[in-house]
Amino acid sequence: MTETESALAPAPSRPDVHLIPGRDKRLRLGHPWVYSNEIRMGSAERALPPGGVVRLIASDGACLGAATFNPHTLIAGRRLTLEGGAAIDAGFFAKHLRRALALRTRLYDRPFYRLIHAEADGLPALVVDRFGDVVVVQANAAGMDRLLPELTAALDTVLKPAAVVLRNDSPMRALEGLPEEVRLLKGCLEGPVRVEENGAVFFADPLGGQKTGWYFDQRDNRAFVAGLARGARVLDLYTYHGGFAIQALVAGAERAVAVDSSAQALAQAACAAEANGVATRCEFRKADVFVELERLGVAGERYDIVIADPPPFARAKKDVAAASRAYRKLTRMAARVTGKGGVLLVASCSHNIDPGTFTDVVAAGLSDAQRFGRIIRQSGASPDHPLHPLLPESAYLKAVVVHLD
Ligand code: SAH
Repeated sequence: MTETESALAPAPSRPDVHLIPGRDKRLRLGHPWVYSNEIRMGSAERALPPGGVVRLIASDGACLGAATFNPHTLIAGRRLTLEGGAAIDAGFFAKHLRRALALRTRLYDRPFYRLIHAEADGLPALVVDRFGDVVVVQANAAGMDRLLPELTAALDTVLKPAAVVLRNDSPMRALEGLPEEVRLLKGCLEGPVRVEENGAVFFADPLGGQKTGWYFDQRDNRAFVAGLARGARVLDLYTYHGGFAIQALVAGAERAVAVDSSAQALAQAACAAEANGVATRCEFRKADVFVELERLGVAGERYDIVIADPPPFARAKKDVAAASRAYRKLTRMAARVTGKGGVLLVASCSHNIDPGTFTDVVAAGLSDAQRFGRIIRQSGASPDHPLHPLLPESAYLKAVVVHLD
């Protein structure tokens, strides 16, 4: 069906879900979510299939749009459109893909980026990363999971990718009662794919790598660090595929030590170092970061730039206190190996730690190390990870960069 045909098709019949009186204010302001305790939840609603499309009806009878609905989750409704009767088909997805693509092509001159970042791109709970003509798709809620056929049809219209990888293995899926699944939806993949970023080349494995294969969110922070790197000795902790270290070396760093506990991640980093002609200046170490930092600290090693970009320490709200202690300790230990006049970047991708708290934790870690200096950058993810204005808490990535005396 073409987009024009779908626009002319009769309005689809879909169940109505009613909001409790007084619980429609956020939706009317444009918020994309409805919580389960905001819905008149009777046996009919509970029996609806998880992820089906419904109409949202306010207590005054007004239709507030169409949403995917999961009666079993706290975020029960995820609004797709303000029009209750709009077709949610390949045409709907194509419209959103085209808008997202127009933004990314304005931002970047090479086709390597996050193409869809969920609610902010109008497609709740959906992630699409683009590696040239390979795209990686992740559906993190039951609604998007059911709509994957419509999405893949739209991808074929808008992007015509050679391969589409389904990376449905995020921990968020379990909350929605969804199984884990990683497979090719289209085409074939022979080994890792190329990623070009800030003038350097990397290799990512969309099927076997972490997340979707590459952390696009750190692009601007890598560029910022690279801009300070001329002549520097760099320590890149939690390097993954070498993003920070290799970009710093390409920008003129003298040498870099890159640490990660994953041999697989380091193997791709080593390939990237070769491809960028910096392998002789880069050393990769398979180690636990805290163990390595202790060793380097005792040995009196000092670096001009230190990057600490760990995996999320707080995966749930209950982990926040322990995670804060871990970030503080990481900052203290990383500051110890940062030389005088050096620059330290500490990052957190824990959703549950807000930017203000994170800056406080970094400050506490610096005090613990008796190191003083100034914050020269506080940033989040790159703009291919946009924010829905009413979901500021979805700004999961924080990076604090300090210049140390
Ligand atoms: N800085 C990277 C992304 C880091 S993701 C980039 O710019 O792309 C987090 C990385 O930490 C992963 O590669 C993971 O393998 C590694 N990791 C997790 N726990 C670790 C530990 N205890 N010690 C060292 N590396 C660890």
